[in-house]
Amino acid sequence: MANRLTAAAAAARQRYVDEHPRSAALAAQASTVLPGGNTRSVLHIEPFGFRVAGAEGPWLHDVDGHTYLDLLGDYSAGLLGRCADIAAVIAGVLERGWSYGAMSEPEAVFAEAVVGRFPSIDQVRFTNSGSEANVMALLTARHVTARQRAVVFDGAYHGGPLYFGPGGDRLRVPFEFAVLPYNDIEAVAAELTANGERIACVLVEPMLGAGGCIPAQPEFLAALRERTVASGALLIFDEVMTSRLALGGAQELLDIVPDMTTLGKYLAGGLSFGAFGGRRDVMAAFDPNSGGLTHGGTFNNNAFTMAVGAEVSTLIAAAELDALNRRGDDLRNSLNACFGDSPLPFQALGWGSLLNVHPCPGLVARPADLAAADPAWRELFFHDLLAAGFYVAPRGYMALTLDVTDAHVASFVAAVQTFLDARRSLA
Ligand code: PMP
Repeated sequence: MANRLTAAAAAARQRYVDEHPRSAALAAQASTVLPGGNTRSVLHIEPFGFRVAGAEGPWLHDVDGHTYLDLLGDYSAGLLGRCADIAAVIAGVLERGWSYGAMSEPEAVFAEAVVGRFPSIDQVRFTNSGSEANVMALLTARHVTARQRAVVFDGAYHGGPLYFGPGGDRLRVPFEFAVLPYNDIEAVAAELTANGERIACVLVEPMLGAGGCIPAQPEFLAALRERTVASGALLIFDEVMTSRLALGGAQELLDIVPDMTTLGKYLAGGLSFGAFGGRRDVMAAFDPNSGGLTHGGTFNNNAFTMAVGAEVSTLIAAAELDALNRRGDDLRNSLNACFGDSPLPFQALGWGSLLNVHPCPGLVARPADLAAADPAWRELFFHDLLAAGFYVAPRGYMALTLDVTDAHVASFVAAVQTFLDARRSLA
């Protein structure tokens, strides 16, 4: 059976190769100057990633003439879709000019919107990516506590140099980390007992995003809040992904206020963006008049990101976010209903508009619970859905955008049902 599954996945991969000759040629050409023709590892598809020619609304067009319904939403950065309002703001910057090397009005407007949204953020600093925001948050916590060690969780992704999944240690910033199992408060309690006086912070995603869309148990996060207060460590929520679950992010939904929060992805409408913020007394360290810390970055306040970010708060209403997250919940429930009626070993995890389909049944509290997932099922699911015109991440991840409608979602559920029927004999 396993051999038939592997053979089916290999055949699907070959079909993909055959159907993407122009992408293959561009990938080969790119490989001479980019390692493997790639500059963003997650976009690699075996044996080469397809090349996009353009995009409009929820549609992606590749250079081989295929059109896909984009259910990946640029890994969450594309939440707002490809809307005319953002294009107009960018056009405004083009008209006014850019690269000032000085401050402009929109950065404070953007910062006010961020501070207004997230309960834990009194003050904020902008960066160029979520990765940078998390590195800065860790460094800030180490500075203000005068402690070195950070608690993080197995399978977490906080950015390129802060990956705690398989192989992540090879390119990780060389800080002192305690890497603990997610959703395991006993492990955190033991670590705090053993090393509490050396622990600067606990950095946690309210839902492991890249780790498979595994939500934290609310009591786990509540216990982290309680225990970090007791030990004098800062609690940092990485809401790069989860900030989209409500206007105030997961922290608002859970009613837990961390000391610091990191942000990224969609908050600048799909342009390069990251931010770290938190309690006023913590962020005061960056006040050039009195704080003593410097935080450089030529593009921290680049004209495009600031102008779009300042507008995003007016473009996303709470009701719209709620509707998007309800659509995601409905999609997850519909998929799980299909999977429940099928002999194939699938389930969908996630929270609101962030989902991940896994070829692995059973309860999942941490990435180790996904160990039985067969990569051949992942590959087959990805290729069959791509061939049917639906783009999700090769790992099964999806992030709905505001361009995706109920009708789009229904067409995807129907395509997944077709996949389950067509591949039923591989069960
Ligand atoms: N934190 C989380 C939770 C993320 O999902 C990501 C990106 N996937 C990052 C941090 C890093 O953000 P960026 O890609 O902007 O560096």
